[in-house]
Amino acid sequence: MSVQVLAAKMAEVELKDVPGKELTPESPLTPKTDDKGIVENEPKATSATTPTMEPIVKTGDTSPGFLTPNTKMPQASAMKRTDPQQNGGEAFVNRDGTVAEAPRLKKIQFADQKQEFNKRPTKIGRRSLSRSISQSSTDSYGSAASYTDSSDDETSPRDKQQKNSKGNGDFCIKNIKQADFGRREIEIAEQEMPALMALRKRAQGEKPLAGAKVVGCTHITAQTAVLMETLTALGAQCRWAACNIYSTQNEVAAALAEGGFSVFAWKGESEDDFWWCIDRCVNLEGWQPNMILDDGGDLTHWIYKKYPNMFKKIKGIVEESVTGVHRLYQLSKAGKLCVPAMNVNDSVTKQKFDNLYCCRESILDGLKRTTDVMFGGKQVVVCGYGEVGKGCCAALKAMGSIVYVTEIDPICALQACMDGFRLVKLNEVIRQVDIVITCTGNKNVVVREYLDRMKNGCIVCNMGHSNTEIDVASLRTPELTWERVRSQVDHVIWPDGKRIVLLAEGRLLNLSCSTVPTFVLSITATTQALALIELYNAPEGRYKQDVYLLPKKMDEYVASLHLPTFDAHLTELSDEQAKYLGLNKNGPFKPNYYR
Ligand code: NAD
Repeated sequence: MSVQVLAAKMAEVELKDVPGKELTPESPLTPKTDDKGIVENEPKATSATTPTMEPIVKTGDTSPGFLTPNTKMPQASAMKRTDPQQNGGEAFVNRDGTVAEAPRLKKIQFADQKQEFNKRPTKIGRRSLSRSISQSSTDSYGSAASYTDSSDDETSPRDKQQKNSKGNGDFCIKNIKQADFGRREIEIAEQEMPALMALRKRAQGEKPLAGAKVVGCTHITAQTAVLMETLTALGAQCRWAACNIYSTQNEVAAALAEGGFSVFAWKGESEDDFWWCIDRCVNLEGWQPNMILDDGGDLTHWIYKKYPNMFKKIKGIVEESVTGVHRLYQLSKAGKLCVPAMNVNDSVTKQKFDNLYCCRESILDGLKRTTDVMFGGKQVVVCGYGEVGKGCCAALKAMGSIVYVTEIDPICALQACMDGFRLVKLNEVIRQVDIVITCTGNKNVVVREYLDRMKNGCIVCNMGHSNTEIDVASLRTPELTWERVRSQVDHVIWPDGKRIVLLAEGRLLNLSCSTVPTFVLSITATTQALALIELYNAPEGRYKQDVYLLPKKMDEYVASLHLPTFDAHLTELSDEQAKYLGLNKNGPFKPNYYR
């Protein structure tokens, strides 16, 4: 059966629950054994950013299907998780890779917002960077493909009166005249976001988000624009602010404003602008959001602090980031979460694509943009051979680099060996390597001792979530000189003239210095859209005031929507095979703990 036919078929049968069977809650840490006592699908050890979970999967419930009138949506599963960050773990890892020491969750300061709103910095140069909130909103992300030179016009967008061609002025962006450029960016992104485009087509007859008033706070990029326009096609009204003060693609924001969206965002917002934009999204006479789509949790917390009554009408929160999910779990733990929330971050497809495939592509991009290094023949050591490490190693090997791997886990170490990489201890190769890449999710992997022993010109960078993998603080000593040579590139110079090339000050290289493949973002955006649909349409009582994870079946559905891009031909289980494996022919094909 061709994928197209299969996709069409899925439109009819997809998202049906496994009939009749209530799955037993299983801890992913409890190895599942078959009848011979052989361990099946034993889950990998979790890292600080891949929390251990105990899914409680309930099946059998249905919600109004949106894709076809008779389809069922699998119910999301409430997730409890053993989160090292919540259980006295020492590092709170922000979505962007920054880590704050305990107390892990820095509170957003809502000190005197009225006063802040009255301060209107008119120059970008006046932006305050002494942020007290999660660093996530200050790290750049995916905005490299911007036509906008933010220095071309220093007037604050807040001081401009702009209207789109239809006379609508309910937005605040850098420059509405850039809309045409932005539209082209969006059209390019559409080509790599097939699932969202498929949802739009499906929605022609049906509007599963009719009446939904979605307030969003995410990176405002071409990919987000495709999501917003999809939500609108599905019937929603959207108001949007940026979750990061640097990441807005101004021309995309302009295209959205021209298209009638109420967007409040520009590249280079000040701290004050950041909260002002969020407030403008939420605080509008005659309009109240009933759904939240957040990335980092700032919007959610703003509503909690400033407009708690709004939660009476809000049906749910969809959260994408590690940071935001962590905040939601904290709220839930404190008994303060007053609506259901969907954790998109921990969806399997998101993690698989983000970690392995995204890094496989963006490691080269990040290194090339910052250093122009040639990879062929270079000696590289990659610390950690998890998903991210595997992606980095595969890419570098393919470019002709000589790749060494360090690992602490014998299983991943053996995988590295079987994949043809030399497994070493860092001190064995540190003098000879040209590039050091950390991707362990751990701390102090590259310490000062190693940095001292590196050779002149060695490039040092981090692909892991936490910016403590490289002990950057140890390089801030009087005898070392720091020289900023490019944006996000520092030379750290030793007294004898040796210099190392430190990228993004040890923060996540790809998110700081390159873009992320649109196709990866497509997966996340599709999951976000489905989570919104599910929460919005769920009958009262289906979801409680808890944090839920979309079930495996939904992950499989998101993946299936991306298959036609490759003209991939998926094999269908025969009845006999399905019976033999104990599976429903329409999935889910893996247990819920499979990652
Ligand atoms: P993972 O748990 O699969 O892999 C990490 C590996 O590092 C493990 O195999 C572990 O045994 C190993 N390790 C731990 N401490 C070590 C040490 N001191 N020396 C050598 N090896 C060590 O995790 P992952 O999915 O590969 O993610 C790794 C990090 O990258 C996480 O922090 C994750 O959040 C982050 N991440 C980054 C991106 C990105 O775009 N850059 C995307 C996804 C995840």
